[in-house]
Amino acid sequence: MNQVLGVIGSPISHSLSPVMHEAAYEELQLNCSYHAFHVESTQLKSAVEGVRSLGLKGINVTIPHKVDVIQYLDHIDPLAEEIGAVNTIVNDQGVLKGYNTDGDGYVYALLQRIGKTLHDKRILIVGAGGAAKGVALCLSKYGVKKMTITNRTSSKAEDLAVICSRYSDTDYLSLEMAQAELAEFDIIINTTSIGMAPNFDQMPLSLENLRKGAFVSDLIYNPYKTKLLIEAENKGSGIMNGVDMFVHQGALAFKKWFNKEAPVQIMKNSVIKHLGGSI
Ligand code: NAP
Repeated sequence: MNQVLGVIGSPISHSLSPVMHEAAYEELQLNCSYHAFHVESTQLKSAVEGVRSLGLKGINVTIPHKVDVIQYLDHIDPLAEEIGAVNTIVNDQGVLKGYNTDGDGYVYALLQRIGKTLHDKRILIVGAGGAAKGVALCLSKYGVKKMTITNRTSSKAEDLAVICSRYSDTDYLSLEMAQAELAEFDIIINTTSIGMAPNFDQMPLSLENLRKGAFVSDLIYNPYKTKLLIEAENKGSGIMNGVDMFVHQGALAFKKWFNKEAPVQIMKNSVIKHLGGSI
């Protein structure tokens, strides 16, 4: 019997999850299909109930439902609980279990790209929204030398720094101070939406003081290379866009549903092809 999976969100038509997961099913010859479901906030409860009653194997959850969906689930994984958001639901014979694979997906992607440990790295996280929460928490749990969080709304950076400092040395700075002290950081991660299409010419901060050899990463993948990444590359820095995080969060979700390794490279190729980037 064909098993059905999918992603719920609003808007959802832009989602690359169906392309990515269907590529994995085709590669492994799994009799499954993955669909994008447009779900408004007023329909969230009944949509989640539908996962159970229609027997969907699992779903991903995206904006704006990652936080609100928690109340409708039977079990929340401790990491998802700490992050306060769920992006993956497993339907375990009618018991709905919520997980968050965004942050670990980012850490996997970063480690694969820089090929080293993070324990000796000083990391600047720009932004303190939903995505930043997962990324910062998982990086701090992995263990970094020092993490600093900066955000337009300073109080949110402070709150996130307090949570992360349970695991790694973490503080927060104003955007102005982070800008002035940029040379102190080995890795800079933009988790804000600044630079996302159609605002191609915007940057979350200037790279004027970027340290030589620093690595710059952006969670955005549309455009494929944000202005931040283009400028970093022009300065000789290593860069990573949001595709790797997206693929690894999907691969970790796949593993939760099927209890087997996902064909990561096939999934990544399908996403890059769809975005018109180069493999
Ligand atoms: P969010 O919860 O709405 O957070 C947005 C963040 O951006 C906040 O820190 C916000 O600052 C900041 N921001 C927005 N507009 C700003 C502006 N004009 N000036 C200064 N700061 C601004 O959104 P999110 O879910 O974290 O998503 C953030 C980005 O990550 C998006 O581009 C999203 O596409 C990307 N993302 C990528 C992946 C992936 O798999 N690659 C996964 C998730 C998200 P304030 O707190 O001051 O409002």
